[in-house]
Amino acid sequence: MFANKFPPLTAYLLCLCSLGIFSAKANAAWVEDTQNIMGTRISISFWHDSAAIAQRALADGMAEMRRIDQTLSPYIETSDLALLNKNAAAAPQAISDELLFLVDKSLYYSRLSDGAFDITFASLGWFYDYRNKLQPSVKQRDKLLPAINYKWLQLNPKQKTLRFLHPNVRIDLGGIAKGYAVDRVIDILKGYGVEHATVSAGGDSRVLGDKGGRPWMVGIKNPRDGGDESAAPVIRLPLENVAISTSGDYERYFIDDQGHRVHHIINPKTGESASGLVSVTILGPQGADTDPLSTTVFVLGVEKGLALINQLRGFDAILIDSKGTVFYSDGLLAPDAAPATSGAAS
Ligand code: ADP
Ligand code: MG
Repeated sequence: MFANKFPPLTAYLLCLCSLGIFSAKANAAWVEDTQNIMGTRISISFWHDSAAIAQRALADGMAEMRRIDQTLSPYIETSDLALLNKNAAAAPQAISDELLFLVDKSLYYSRLSDGAFDITFASLGWFYDYRNKLQPSVKQRDKLLPAINYKWLQLNPKQKTLRFLHPNVRIDLGGIAKGYAVDRVIDILKGYGVEHATVSAGGDSRVLGDKGGRPWMVGIKNPRDGGDESAAPVIRLPLENVAISTSGDYERYFIDDQGHRVHHIINPKTGESASGLVSVTILGPQGADTDPLSTTVFVLGVEKGLALINQLRGFDAILIDSKGTVFYSDGLLAPDAAPATSGAAS
């Protein structure tokens, strides 16, 4: 299998230790921190020649994650996003350059995927409560499904306004915000002269440069390891200068009375959880693209999802279906390997 080509993570870590990379000296310039922000685990780790400057860069990076959360969270009543949801059906609302960028990019992926990615999923999606195992009633579904349609979003880039053309529309940027936030933190670190870093927000990561002369190793979790943090990843990828986003049906979910897995990636056409795939990983230059693409491909399924990624320059994908079969985009297959759609490896 693909992963077996690479040394186990432990051996790799031992190797780094022996090189003295994880020095315990007070002036050590590898800096790392993990905090809970945006409803997920945010990790920042990087190398800097000056420990003092590194601490400032780290603080700025975490502050940026908190700022983005305060701006884009649908749960914070004063966030720009919550205010839009409250007011944009009544009249066009002025939006920041940041929101313009994110909504515009979201609309791009909606058009590209014929609506598989659609931030208006929240019109109905808002009524799922995964922690308390609640889903919308039949009445709510009938009323709110017609409000899921990106065509109800009237974005005016010149005036920098957004209007909802249907009274029941709600938007949620949960499918793009974390990847975007990771890009922002990488930019902040670069501004401090950082050349070797990894930043992650839940399933969205980006690596800058390498890690002390070797690639960063990023693992794709076994989707059915039951959330066991110590479980070994199914695939390990040696990476440099790339963003990687994974969408899975195992992060936020519950099993309903009929035995169906109800999870947080919604098929906009049905208003229900997308089925077929259990894990989708996308590799590409920026998190603001790999994040929405992982959600998009999850909704599209194996065939359409791989076709989309194979037509996009600079992106690759690793898909795992509900039987545990792994599928790779063309860019990850050896020239003589079997076609990805036939289930390359497992
Ligand atoms: P994670 O949030 O675990 O990183 P994803 O990147 O796949 O996982 O994003 C899932 C989130 O995307 C959901 O929690 C929700 O906020 C949003 N979302 C769900 N379905 C869609 C969809 N069809 N289009 C756009 N966004 C979606
Ligand atoms: Mg995503």
